[in-house]
Amino acid sequence: MQVIQEFTLKQTTVVCPACNSLFSTPVLVSMPDITQATVIEADLHRVLPHQSLRSSLVAMCAACNYTWWVTAFKTHLVKPQLVPATPASECPKKFAHAVLTGRQNQAHCLDLALLALNGYWCAREAGEPHERWLDLSGQEMEKALKDTQWQGNRGYYHYVMGEICRLVQDFKGAVANFVKVGPQSMLPLELIERQKVLSTSGDHNPAILPVHLVELMFCPNRQLEIIK
Ligand SMILES: [Zn+2]
Repeated sequence: MQVIQEFTLKQTTVVCPACNSLFSTPVLVSMPDITQATVIEADLHRVLPHQSLRSSLVAMCAACNYTWWVTAFKTHLVKPQLVPATPASECPKKFAHAVLTGRQNQAHCLDLALLALNGYWCAREAGEPHERWLDLSGQEMEKALKDTQWQGNRGYYHYVMGEICRLVQDFKGAVANFVKVGPQSMLPLELIERQKVLSTSGDHNPAILPVHLVELMFCPNRQLEIIK
């Protein structure tokens, strides 16, 4: 067990879906609830206190390098000390391996976009350069949004795409995506308007959500109080 500011990682044995090898990888088994003090940015990610926490969202096979969301790996009862450990890879790089695995297995562009977005967040949490991650995420997200077969929450991802555009200083693209968000996205109108204003004023800096929006969107109990 490794505890980082109330986040708990546990070394766990998993089975690789590609080659059936057993290996051990850190898995995030508990995390503190979101409160007023939790830092959430306007691209709707929770800022984590250490790069190893986010990188535990993906697992990389020790035998064949297959890398994907850890939730896609079955756990195994063999003790983690008895199987090879996942290769020691720099944290953001695990997401690059996952994008590669996704491409090799014809994963949907939305998965690739979200992996790259996590690579961006992880690179920032690691204090590393992150611009290329945003570009990659934007390219894949654009493809996902153009896929007419895809049935996801399109409005929500237009919002995320708007934020990606704003962060890479494509302010026109940001506004073009924000206007497509709509009520089906279940996102507060205030949030969309705030980010639209930042875009039109040419602000490309990551923005932290104000406390009342964190409560409204991420604290269900508090949300009930507000509705009452
Ligand atoms: Zn494998």
